[in-house]
Amino acid sequence: MTTVVKIGGARAVDPEGALADVASLVEADEEVVLTHGGSTAVDETLAELGKEPTYVETPSGVVGRFTDERTMDVFKMVMPGKLNTDLVESLQNEGVDAVGLSGTDGKLLEGKRKSAVRVKENGKKKIKRGDHSGTIESVNDDLLETLLSGGYTPVVSVPVLGREKGGGYTAVNADADRAAAAIAGALGANLVVLTDVSGIYENPDDESTRIDSAATPEEFDAVTDAAEGFMTKKVMAAEEALEGGAASVTVATANADEPITSALAGEGTTIEPGVLADDADAEPEETVQ
Ligand code: ADP
Repeated sequence: MTTVVKIGGARAVDPEGALADVASLVEADEEVVLTHGGSTAVDETLAELGKEPTYVETPSGVVGRFTDERTMDVFKMVMPGKLNTDLVESLQNEGVDAVGLSGTDGKLLEGKRKSAVRVKENGKKKIKRGDHSGTIESVNDDLLETLLSGGYTPVVSVPVLGREKGGGYTAVNADADRAAAAIAGALGANLVVLTDVSGIYENPDDESTRIDSAATPEEFDAVTDAAEGFMTKKVMAAEEALEGGAASVTVATANADEPITSALAGEGTTIEPGVLADDADAEPEETVQ
């Protein structure tokens, strides 16, 4: 079965162990699709260019980035530009024939552009326009399967291809965890989300309270309740991945030897399709990217 790996963009994440592990898996004839974030690097480049990143909060309290036109340009420079190329370069050095793609290539990740977002500012609800974001609706799994069967290892980054209301496309930002989730769903893969913590902790500050697995809706409620801040998005992404057909989702640390192999062996927090039993038809919560 294919493994989709998402490597986080946090400063505390070192991709070295994960890349060596991708190489061992590929060497053993396993199919791997690597996806990555990079929000921190985007913020750093924005700062170097003298621009502050804008973060907004939805009425339901989810915090996300507001991507205006200039921020989108920086996104294109940093994500499919520097970060993706760096990962492809490292994998090539590990003997892996990696191919870098953004969601716009071959319509790999496509969805509707959302240019107006509902936000809460100082307790007041507002509509903010000019956002370059979108929600992924379709994945060109055929493109990934073509590459995989040719012996290539796809390395995927945002942006994604956003359809405009009046026709045409614009490259838009989408959450990297949700992009990984969409790909894992489309491929029926195991999704391994590597980050700077070793899983989802019942008490976010205490690693010893890690939740090892969730296989029922009740167990998933405990995971949802435990997740705070950015981890909330990972839990939502996990749910989307499973709804889309992923075999399992594991949130685990990137900062280990063989982090992917360990995660597939159960190290970390594993969320299984059984968590969907009760609310598979529920409306997804509205978010900004
Ligand atoms: P990445 O950049 O790797 O995608 P994020 O910063 O988006 O990672 O999310 C990981 C962070 O989520 C952790 O560093 C931690 O601060 C936070 N977090 C919130 N709730 C929890 C929890 N219950 N268990 C573990 N980490 C949590």
